[in-house]
Amino acid sequence: MTATQIGVEVSCDGPDEHTDCPDSAAVRASFASRTARQVRADGRAQGWTTRRAPGQLEDMCPSCTAKRQDEAQP
Ligand SMILES: [Zn+2]
Repeated sequence: MTATQIGVEVSCDGPDEHTDCPDSAAVRASFASRTARQVRADGRAQGWTTRRAPGQLEDMCPSCTAKRQDEAQP
């Protein structure tokens, strides 16, 4: 019997804590990525960003990262 290891899924927490990601995006982890650290490294290669928030990390897909940066402009 072959057990397929389900890797860690890193999904988008953005664009902010009150709004769900419009794309329900999740990092496409490469085959070799099994840990959250490895999956986040894959995400960074795809344009994802990780933000430190109190008590947790927030992962943002590329479109939410762009949206957040747009809203940061005055
Ligand atoms: Zn998103």
